[in-house]
Amino acid sequence: MDVSQKKIIIADVDETICETCQQITPEMAKQISSMITKGYTWAFISGTEPHYLKEMISAKLTEPHFLLPTTGTICLDAKNNLFKEEYSYYLTPREKKEAIDAFEELVTKYHIKTLTTKEDQIQNRGTQITLSAIGRNAPTNFKKIYDPDATKRKEWIKFLKTILDENKYEITYAGTTSIDVTRKGLDKAWGIKKFAQHYNIPLNQILFFGDKTHPGGNDYPATKIVDFITVKNPEDTLNKLKEYF
Ligand SMILES: [Mg+2]
Repeated sequence: MDVSQKKIIIADVDETICETCQQITPEMAKQISSMITKGYTWAFISGTEPHYLKEMISAKLTEPHFLLPTTGTICLDAKNNLFKEEYSYYLTPREKKEAIDAFEELVTKYHIKTLTTKEDQIQNRGTQITLSAIGRNAPTNFKKIYDPDATKRKEWIKFLKTILDENKYEITYAGTTSIDVTRKGLDKAWGIKKFAQHYNIPLNQILFFGDKTHPGGNDYPATKIVDFITVKNPEDTLNKLKEYF
């Protein structure tokens, strides 16, 4: 791969650009801003909702960029803290109900206890349903040690697959404690392709950064369609950006 040919950077957010659910650091924002000023295009793809991505990324990143929340099923063009929705693909009420019911069964069967609220544990994000095992807003330290190697979530996904039709839904683990259910085919590969089609960008101009690029991880689908760099954490991403750009 020739990194110098890449003009479009698409990055995962949790554990790649930001610590899970935390804001982008000033160092990272500075590095990315300077790249955007030099002519690179930056887009951020995540299972997270628009509201959180705006807070985590756009509140601190002053240069124009794109947000691809809920696995790229929404595209927001972010300029000067104004957000223009370019497109969006929502789940049907029936799809939402099926996914929420499956998560409720899972929570009961495995006695998964939220540290916050029920709404914070099973979230309807419009284009996807997400389980955050101990609550999305649970303390980061607790989240980090909860399921570090995803053992729990791999087991849970097996159970979910006995309830949800695999031909209809995509079930992946994400962040530190989450499982996302999206419509089949709506993974990060789909999100990146949709973005590329919308803006007429050849896939070979895109470089992807992600921390969960191994099979089963929510970044894995992206690795099938674009060149990618696997990172350990945001610090590792920052070092690699400084090294390559
Ligand atoms: Mg991640």
